[in-house]
Amino acid sequence: MTTRRTLLKLGCVGAAALVNHPATAAEVCRNTDNDLRELKARIRNARLRPVSKLHSLTEPIIIDRVEMLRRDDQFLVRAVCTEGVTGWALANPGLMDSAFGIFVNRVAPFFSGKDARDLEMLLDEVFVTDSNYKWQGLALWICVARAELAILDLIGKRTGQPVHALLGGKLRDFVGLYHANGDRNHSAQWVVEKLKESVAESGARAVKFKLGARMHYTDASTARDHVLIPMVRKHFGDDMVIYADANSSYDVATALKIGRVMEAYNYGFFEEPVQFDYLQETKEVADGVSIPIAGGEQESSLWRFEWLIANRALQIVQPDLIYFGGLLRSLRVAAMAREAGIDIVPHISGSGLGSLYMAHFASVVSNTTEYQEYKGDPDKVPYEVTGRGGRFRAVDGRLAVPMTPGFGITFDPDYLSGLEPVRV
Ligand SMILES: [Mg+2]
Repeated sequence: MTTRRTLLKLGCVGAAALVNHPATAAEVCRNTDNDLRELKARIRNARLRPVSKLHSLTEPIIIDRVEMLRRDDQFLVRAVCTEGVTGWALANPGLMDSAFGIFVNRVAPFFSGKDARDLEMLLDEVFVTDSNYKWQGLALWICVARAELAILDLIGKRTGQPVHALLGGKLRDFVGLYHANGDRNHSAQWVVEKLKESVAESGARAVKFKLGARMHYTDASTARDHVLIPMVRKHFGDDMVIYADANSSYDVATALKIGRVMEAYNYGFFEEPVQFDYLQETKEVADGVSIPIAGGEQESSLWRFEWLIANRALQIVQPDLIYFGGLLRSLRVAAMAREAGIDIVPHISGSGLGSLYMAHFASVVSNTTEYQEYKGDPDKVPYEVTGRGGRFRAVDGRLAVPMTPGFGITFDPDYLSGLEPVRV
């Protein structure tokens, strides 16, 4: 069946020919242009609408302070309101050990004295305050994201609600997972063995592996790609959902060739086929293959996501929940994508409670797939799931969405008592 998306991809004359439409090509063109204009307007409006229920909280929650604390190589963010309720977020130490100066000097002071119910608006304000936009990209937004997470945890604990309730209400009790393998240095057979081990451990029903040579390709990497793509499908069979990620390895011509191989083996999506910030080239690949093109983990701009979505350069959007600035900004991307009938499957890092924050996010989003990225529970900081104990880990290929206030975990109080303030 010819869908509206197919018509938009084909353009005016091709569309008229394809559907054997009695209208002239000019009329189809005019309608298509109108559809596009209307879609772009809806996407823009979606970006501007509230994405949470924070504005409906009746009592002010004034943030006394947001601060960065450290113990050994671990960084935690604490948000405290004027009533003394505390929210926590754990950072990814591999990123925060380079970025903490931006957090301490630029992000933390901004939130003092603000009403946490205004958090959506504050995310826009912090971007322009003191010319913070000049620091835009991962270094700024991971700091904003960790502040946001601590504040959301604080609001949840103060109001007795899990964070997903503050974000709009959960649509599902469990979040399904895909397991990603990040190797490019071993043989195709080795990757299959590792994926087998991961699937046996987590019970995931979907997998992802790497293509290309990361930001470039070689004859050897392309030869490996041509072995891996059929081998993974053959090993796991037709019921496994399989994705592959090129991390910007290819040029357009090579991406089209690889994409057609993936089509032949019924892959679920093709991630970052070409240089991540070559937006037009990404669209060329999307227009040239039927397999969905995924991307966005390096993206920090709502405007560029708007372009990627409106121009259908991506069929799966993947903002990183932390690199992009947190759950609320990522929900704006989800809302924009929804207008275009596009799914969001966020990128995550495992460290810094990536799966926990993802589970809250994925539980409230209607336009997502059955499978979210899963990288285990690599954090060293001691905590337990509030109420039921244990770590936050997958069972039978899925994560149970926490139901207790805040993010639903409790850090070990003895561990927290050893934290020291980070100063620069
Ligand atoms: Mg990726």
